[in-house]
Amino acid sequence: MSIYLDHNATTAPDREVVDAVAWAMAQAWGNPSTLYRQGREARAVLDTARARVAGLIGAADPFEIVFTSGGTESDHLALTGSCGAGRGDHVVTSMAEHKAILRTCAQLEQSGFRVTYLPVDGLGRVDPDAVRKAITPKTALVSMMLANNEVGTINPLPEIAAICRERRVLLHSDAVQAPGRTAVDVAALGVDLLSISGHKLHGPRGVGALWTRRGTVLQSVLAGGSQERGVRPGTENVPGAHGLGVAAELARKRLAETPARVRSLRDRLWELLRAAVPEARAHGDLERGLCNVLNVSFPGHDAEELVLLLDKEGIEVGTGSACTTGQTTPSHVLLAMGVSPQEARCSIRFSLGQCNSQSEIDEVAAVVSRLVGGRSTCHS
Ligand SMILES: *Cc1c(COP(=O)(O)O)cnc(C)c1O
Repeated sequence: MSIYLDHNATTAPDREVVDAVAWAMAQAWGNPSTLYRQGREARAVLDTARARVAGLIGAADPFEIVFTSGGTESDHLALTGSCGAGRGDHVVTSMAEHKAILRTCAQLEQSGFRVTYLPVDGLGRVDPDAVRKAITPKTALVSMMLANNEVGTINPLPEIAAICRERRVLLHSDAVQAPGRTAVDVAALGVDLLSISGHKLHGPRGVGALWTRRGTVLQSVLAGGSQERGVRPGTENVPGAHGLGVAAELARKRLAETPARVRSLRDRLWELLRAAVPEARAHGDLERGLCNVLNVSFPGHDAEELVLLLDKEGIEVGTGSACTTGQTTPSHVLLAMGVSPQEARCSIRFSLGQCNSQSEIDEVAAVVSRLVGGRSTCHS
């Protein structure tokens, strides 16, 4: 058995989720767009899932949920869909966003849009005042993530939302890392569009949702039938949506207890590591950021080598962003935070989950301390 500390890359589906997906696959296989009983039953399962996902993020109306194939598609639909609706030709985002946002922005630039990539401070936060200054009469959309996947930093979304509302600009947030780890309430955040993903909250992979405030016009990226209000055509993934709905319910119920427990484990890990390895440095906002993330560099120890050494010891951790594994370029998030490339190459990400125990944390701290305590694997 390994110790899994890479919950920001993905999470194991809950047993109840696995059962729910299997049940829906076998029983609710009808096409929800059809009129007879089998179709109506599938439609009912989909409607329940929609209501559960809406409940997770405080959405008033399940109708506002659009099911997608995951976080990447939700981000893509939010950006491309609102830019395609003729609101303007300018987008504001930040340098610390997930690649799903940054690469979609790069595509938009190729089709003639202008994108402003705002810097972040040393903790990874965007300054709301910088958003205010970046907005022009041609700005179609601002996209700012809620919680950063690499360092866990939480952006001041309510402040940014107030500015966007005043300037009548849509605000999208990639909130994929947030559910189950911090409260997500679309009304309190003040956003117009919000992305989530099943596999980051102990749900199925390959399913996600985009919440769209009622009245927000989005151009469909795909052409086809009128499923999901025509915004996301294609016969619905009923088992995936059902699994996401069950995962959303579980995440909502656990919110009262899990984040506080995970935070204390995360803090314990950092205490143990910094005591054993004085040169270790944590990146991000440990105080106000996500409860489960500890991004730390061990100067002189190449991150990828360390990840492989830990794997041999049965410990699974990430090197910042899973999407850049195999690349030697340092994390764009850490660079944006002002971390040097040498130090960024030496940073690994521990991201904890609801199932981790104190004895696991103690073992991880002991193994890491042994591996990095003495010798260096690279020189920077
Ligand atoms: C994982 C992740 C995504 C992509 O979600 P998928 O469901 O894997 O496509 C997008 N944004 C953030 C912040 C993520 O952590």
